[in-house]
Amino acid sequence: MKAAVIENFNDIIFKEVEQPSLDHDEALIKVEYTGVCGTDVHILLGNHKQVKLPLIPGHEFVGRLAKINTDRETNLKIGQRVVAQPLTGCGKCELCIQGRDNVCVDLNIFGIHSDGCFAEYIKVPLKKVYAVPEEIDPRVVSLVEPLAVAMHDVRRSNLQVGQTALIVGGGPIGVLMAMVAKLNGAAKVAISEINEERIKFAKEMDMGFEMINPLKVDIDEEIERLTDHMGFDVVYEVSGVQAGADLMTKAAKIGGTIMMVGIPTKSYMVDTGAITLKELKMEGVRIHAQINFKAALEVIKNNIFNDKLKRLITNEFHIEDIKEAMDFCIKDKDHFKVLLKMS
Ligand SMILES: [Zn+2]
Ligand SMILES: [Zn+2]
Repeated sequence: MKAAVIENFNDIIFKEVEQPSLDHDEALIKVEYTGVCGTDVHILLGNHKQVKLPLIPGHEFVGRLAKINTDRETNLKIGQRVVAQPLTGCGKCELCIQGRDNVCVDLNIFGIHSDGCFAEYIKVPLKKVYAVPEEIDPRVVSLVEPLAVAMHDVRRSNLQVGQTALIVGGGPIGVLMAMVAKLNGAAKVAISEINEERIKFAKEMDMGFEMINPLKVDIDEEIERLTDHMGFDVVYEVSGVQAGADLMTKAAKIGGTIMMVGIPTKSYMVDTGAITLKELKMEGVRIHAQINFKAALEVIKNNIFNDKLKRLITNEFHIEDIKEAMDFCIKDKDHFKVLLKMS
């Protein structure tokens, strides 16, 4: 089969590789579309500590079931359109038992710890495979993984109907989180972002997001105006930079919650005094648990906002042009989701 392989950092090539052979209770999926995530870019640039080369990256995809190796009963049918949750926990540790497979002590994420979906075929554990109705646009379905991430973050934050939310960082995950916060009944959802193209894009989603460019407005005044002098009930820090960390403690309401989503490339200072004085709650969130992947697929299957999801896909490349596609993802700052078409 053909696949995009990182053999050396900063270099990805499209080449012939061996098709994976199936172990027990595994499925082989022929990939149709795969999404490029910020993580894939970090891996290519050598910024991901857990990666060993060579590696086929990619953990967001939709495809068709090609083969199953099991003696158990299954409703899945060969040729059917499917998605698969990209992470697998050990299934035995305390966290897995609690349904927190995303923070398992022995976590495997394909495209990071093992070969991913920038390939014609990928093998996955059968228990991670979900069928998708034929009538839904497969491009939209390919967004199930990032949507699951956004849902995990909002669910963990315990955002309540009628509350206010601020998302610091308006990239694909930030906007998805804003969409989920709205769906969750937030009275006001604001996004802080410094890229004017991204601000325009988020506004054009037409979901009533309040857009803040902290470089252009008096941020204290803006927080007061948007929250009636109270601050936001929940602040989601997605940017992973110092300016975002400064904003999160400032923008959170007294007694409010800060969710740490973005992973900083280098550690930053946090105003811990504000956490004490305002009695803030601060919690980290990582990827998504299987329950959220399943729920994200339900949101797509029930067409809650598939038209909006589709608008997040701003660029499409053929997998053969992987070098060009990754180069674009690194250099272009205005895109949202880039999809790779497999055939
Ligand atoms: Zn991702
Ligand atoms: Zn585990």
